[in-house]
Amino acid sequence: MAINVKSGLENYSDEPRFHFDIYAILEGGQELFFGHETQVNVNIVETVTIASSDGDGDNGELEKCYLSPTKRRGVERRALIWAPTGNGLLGDSLNCGIPHTCSKVECPICRVFGGLITSPIEVEGETGKRPATTLIGRLTHSGGVAIQELGPEEKQRAMHPSMIRKAPESKPTPTPFKREYNQPGLLYPVYNHCLSMTETEFSAVAYAFMGALARLGAGNPKGVKIHDDVIAKDVAEPWIVVDQYLTPIGKRPVVSPTIKDVKEAKKQFKEAAFSVAGSKKEYASKLTHGNFHRYIGNAAIAKLSEYLIKFEEGVLNNVDAETGD
Ligand SMILES: [Zn+2]
Repeated sequence: MAINVKSGLENYSDEPRFHFDIYAILEGGQELFFGHETQVNVNIVETVTIASSDGDGDNGELEKCYLSPTKRRGVERRALIWAPTGNGLLGDSLNCGIPHTCSKVECPICRVFGGLITSPIEVEGETGKRPATTLIGRLTHSGGVAIQELGPEEKQRAMHPSMIRKAPESKPTPTPFKREYNQPGLLYPVYNHCLSMTETEFSAVAYAFMGALARLGAGNPKGVKIHDDVIAKDVAEPWIVVDQYLTPIGKRPVVSPTIKDVKEAKKQFKEAAFSVAGSKKEYASKLTHGNFHRYIGNAAIAKLSEYLIKFEEGVLNNVDAETGD
């Protein structure tokens, strides 16, 4: 029998494929809680331990707050599942959720994030079982180690019932609890990488990345923004770089997790952002070198916005937010 050497990825259009990357520095506008991976229900945030480059800290190690890529990935996937489409939500219209993904190649979510069905399974509203399927995602998430060395802080919180008057014999209120938080103002360099995607496929990635920003975190409060500061001109711009390319000739604006100093971290990010094919480029909001295209700051936001609109027009139902039709 002949062997199969194909990837198995079906094509639904003639669109060319590219690699796409998003590099950004995110900033927490308030406290942020993201539970520790193994510590369910104890209100401890996730941190990482890093070998200190200068040998200070405990045993030459640093503990830093962490916006873990796996959690960011989950929030991004939910941004797509809960995207509004007509009177409903995108995940409902596709019958695609978490943990039960539809794992169909034609699903705009599974097509980029991947899906897994471990054994044939019956699904409400569907005739016949869904077959066991492995669909490898072509979107990967990285980064998330905070720049500043500032550990989490434990806060006393309390749930206050809405009773205005309570009987003397009723149970004591409020209900107190303690929870750790990442402190406001922490900067988190994060990166999304897309392998061999069409522009239509990337439009879902762009929507998920931008849509997740306001929703990162568990419980309340939530949300981060893209850090604003001067990149090369005199005006503040969002610290984000978007690449579209066939070969990886741009230096990757990845901040070393061992750096604790914000200035030093931003210098490293910026120098890489303006380095393509081994040489330093003059400041421009768009850098082009052959088929390699890099968009920086506001130009990167403009580029992502084009894809957001493409996603809205192609996948969401184009209902106008003001008129409702
Ligand atoms: Zn799906």
